Amino acid sequence: MPTERHETLTKIVATVGPACNRVDTLVKLIEGGVRVLRINFSHGSFEDFENSLRVARQAADRTNTAIGVFGDLSGPKIRVTTVDNNELELHVGDHVEINSREGFVGRRDGQTGVVTLACTYDRLVDEVEIGHRLLINDGAIRMLVTNKVADNEDQLGLGPRLICNVLVGGPVSNKKGINLPDTHISAPALTDWDEECAAWAVENELDYLAMSFVRRAADLERLHGFLESFGRSRSGIRSHTRLPIIAKIEKPQAIDELEGICDKADAIMVARGDLGVEMDLAEVPVIQKRIIRCAHDHSKPVIVATQMLQSMIDEPVPTRAEVSDCANAILDGADAVMLSGETAVGRYPDEAVSVLTRTARFTEDHRAQVMGQQTRPPRLAQESRYRTAAIAHGVSTIAKDLGAHCVVTWSELGGSARYLSQNRLTIPIVAVSSNQTALRQMALHYGVVPVWMPRPASPEAFLQAVDQLFLDRQWVAPGDPIVICRGDPIGTPGVTNQIRIHYVGDVCRVTWRVKGE
Ligand code: PGA
Ligand code: MN
Repeated sequence: MPTERHETLTKIVATVGPACNRVDTLVKLIEGGVRVLRINFSHGSFEDFENSLRVARQAADRTNTAIGVFGDLSGPKIRVTTVDNNELELHVGDHVEINSREGFVGRRDGQTGVVTLACTYDRLVDEVEIGHRLLINDGAIRMLVTNKVADNEDQLGLGPRLICNVLVGGPVSNKKGINLPDTHISAPALTDWDEECAAWAVENELDYLAMSFVRRAADLERLHGFLESFGRSRSGIRSHTRLPIIAKIEKPQAIDELEGICDKADAIMVARGDLGVEMDLAEVPVIQKRIIRCAHDHSKPVIVATQMLQSMIDEPVPTRAEVSDCANAILDGADAVMLSGETAVGRYPDEAVSVLTRTARFTEDHRAQVMGQQTRPPRLAQESRYRTAAIAHGVSTIAKDLGAHCVVTWSELGGSARYLSQNRLTIPIVAVSSNQTALRQMALHYGVVPVWMPRPASPEAFLQAVDQLFLDRQWVAPGDPIVICRGDPIGTPGVTNQIRIHYVGDVCRVTWRVKGE
């Protein structure tokens, strides 16, 4: 809306970490355009997560903005344990042995030069085969498994282990991630640590939960099941408020089962960090487009993540390629773009957010000019003749024909806001609800501006409240056309069935005049 120029239609997600986990810093990021925050369960303790959540909620309160917060489960990520002095350099041609012994500290033998490392996955030697690739630190270090030593062949007492040859060297430090792109890993999608974190997310009323390394739709069902049984076993947690799940697409198996995953998930993330290691990096740009298209077909919001502005971890200015990538993610149809290390540990979190906001604004203006006449209603919702989707598409058409400045919807649980957002209008969708959780969840949807309001007693009272809202916030001028949709009776979830064309101030004309004098 013209008077709030920091507001972009594209949503910006920022990862909370040591570089920004203070109220004043987060306030700045929110004022700069961030609408969703990520707490990464892969780094830190529950004490850290509690602190991050507290400062996130305080910053949201202080800015009077609906901010969604999601927890990101680590999933079955295999990691190196610890290494001697937290630094070990691997060179091309090194002989490396990897075991699964708990408490083992990785080191290089001073005499033989053989490097021995331990990892966190106890079935490593059973499941990895000779000829498989083993990558460390997001693929920076590359090795080939050349042999295996089984338990009974072991004379050194080191336990079963893999023998690897280093193809590309580099530094290994504590807890660096391991990827095995050729191996079928049988580890469960939800680890014990994930269950603890998921329970914490429910108890602390996070707004979404992201699941890492999803391989199939059944993985999401497993998490649904856990959340439901956990909800049942706790008093005071209402069963209808199941935590929505963001499926992170970062495994080749997930690409094969994309339709099923998009159907079961509540939102999707293109997790390019691990995806770019697990698959040929050259495939990732096209896969990103496929994932976004599939999420859209299923009416689910989608986040494009990882290395968006990677160089800004250390530099105040991004590369041309990074800015281009952000703009292209928006043109591909992403709801949101995500910052990871840039805000969590980087030196320039504010600047990174500002680059995204400016890039989003130019890209959205371009889309409005070039593609303003196209809407893209989600395919499956349209085919199923779902009422809310039909209304949302109708509203989009009316809004365009009318040159409306924005759309307003009463969206008690966020359904109508989501379907409106899926039509990718070039104007904001003001989504009003009396439900704070729903408002925070709506913060992820493209174009949606969530606004809290007590449930009005009648349709007339709603119209009056909308006029008052626009008057207070000065989003549009009196007389500007807007399109309003709502259910009847108002506030009942799932019954959006009324569309009204409204000229702002019609109901509150008297108030406008008084204000203007
Ligand atoms: P991560 O997920 O940052 O938790 O690894 C995102 C990605 O892999 O891109
Ligand atoms: Mn990942």
